[in-house]
Amino acid sequence: MAKHRSGMKPESWLVSAGRAPEPGAPLNVPLVPASNFILGKERGYARDDGTPTWEALEEIVGGLESGRAVAFSSGMAAIAAVFDQLVAGAVIALPGDCYQGVAGLAAAGVERKRWSVYRIAVEDTDGWIRACESADLIWLESPSNPLLTVADLEAICRAPRRAGAVVAVDNTFATPLHQQPLDFGASVSLHSATKFIGGHSDLLGGIAITRDDTFFHALKRSRELTGATPGTLESFLAVRGSRTLALRLQRAQQNAMLLAERLDAHPFVSRVRYPGLASHPTHPIAKRVLKGFGSIISFDVLGDAQVADAVCERVQLIRHATSLGAVESTMERRAAIPGQEHLPPTLLRLSVGIEDAADLWADLDAALRAAANDKKILDVLMNQDAMA
Ligand SMILES: *Cc1c(COP(=O)(O)O)cnc(C)c1O
Repeated sequence: MAKHRSGMKPESWLVSAGRAPEPGAPLNVPLVPASNFILGKERGYARDDGTPTWEALEEIVGGLESGRAVAFSSGMAAIAAVFDQLVAGAVIALPGDCYQGVAGLAAAGVERKRWSVYRIAVEDTDGWIRACESADLIWLESPSNPLLTVADLEAICRAPRRAGAVVAVDNTFATPLHQQPLDFGASVSLHSATKFIGGHSDLLGGIAITRDDTFFHALKRSRELTGATPGTLESFLAVRGSRTLALRLQRAQQNAMLLAERLDAHPFVSRVRYPGLASHPTHPIAKRVLKGFGSIISFDVLGDAQVADAVCERVQLIRHATSLGAVESTMERRAAIPGQEHLPPTLLRLSVGIEDAADLWADLDAALRAAANDKKILDVLMNQDAMA
């Protein structure tokens, strides 16, 4: 059975779970580099039976979402284990705005005639509810990457679904602290532990959590057969990172709210997407289904892709790097990524870290002004006005 938090608040669970109870045991979860164990007890070979280090991570994250967790070598490995459950000819409903790795995995299966895929806009709640009656895998990701559209998971996960259909929610952007898809009725919640759970850009990891025992064993079996096992050092680092998840997220989110408001009023920014702003199209849903708006902001700079690239080159405290959910702030132009060319060319995705908010703002504001100046944005704008 999963260990339950039994009323303990997530903040306390994050700090205390996974530790050995016996007197004399190490206070911290030990890093156990082992492929095999002396036979005779429940553990024989690590790929089949796990290690104490992975299991601590599974206990911590599983407890946060009140389910049983299976840790994987990466977020994509966890996701692939869910896709691995599909029978030939299955129908998958995928969000319009979706992590590029998942879109790629789905497309590869279509090419090999393993399944068919159709896309539904994240905010099209009625479309998702209809999909629950016909699709075999309903794949949701919310808030979405990178437009931060929030799906009405409450309505979608509660909708009647076809027998055997799986509703999977990529909960990476929300974290287990801000969204509980299993409480809404999802079959499985997934995380790239590479992001917020690890929180320090120093590991790759993934986790799937479910309350369905059959599905739990199927995921474990898939991990065993494909060998998508988590690294022991990575699990150790993820456990260590997870201890401060609540603090990191709280601080990063505070910073994000402030930056989103200031970006919204900035003369060289044309649009800000942050679920915490009243102007965000799915703000009302976000208020209802999320416990917090998170620390990712997407915004468009005035001008073109060149200006957006220049902003990325100009920032100093904020690092020009991909990925998200870490202590340090990172930013990138998403349309520059292969497969993401459909996105607005001027869209920057900013993952806000735990630095001082005033320092972050000074860095961003200076970069926006310098980039606009470099690219003679004001001249361009004035010419456009003159021509209009
Ligand atoms: C990063 C990410 C993934 C993939 O996780 P990896 O750990 O890189 O394999 C999946 N979904 C979302 C939303 C992500 O941000």
